[in-house]
Amino acid sequence: MFERAEISMRERIFDCTTLEEVKSKVSEEIARIPWCGERECGLAMEEEVGAGILGIPEGNIGKGAGKCPVCNKETGNMAIMAQTY
Ligand SMILES: [Zn+2]
Repeated sequence: MFERAEISMRERIFDCTTLEEVKSKVSEEIARIPWCGERECGLAMEEEVGAGILGIPEGNIGKGAGKCPVCNKETGNMAIMAQTY
């Protein structure tokens, strides 16, 4: 059941590397972007994009490689962002 949810989610996910990219995609799709996991960075990302961080999902969707767009720290965590309103 969990795997099915993961697959249907994956189909709608758009990989992003910058907050500008998230901003342009998040009205239509779920965006995936590297995030160091720090709460302060998360809040800055949400404010910049105007969308919410749904979290770092379990499994492969939550794993990747990149730099947190706020503090520029290397991270293997991928956060999911979507419009929550
Ligand atoms: Zn950060």
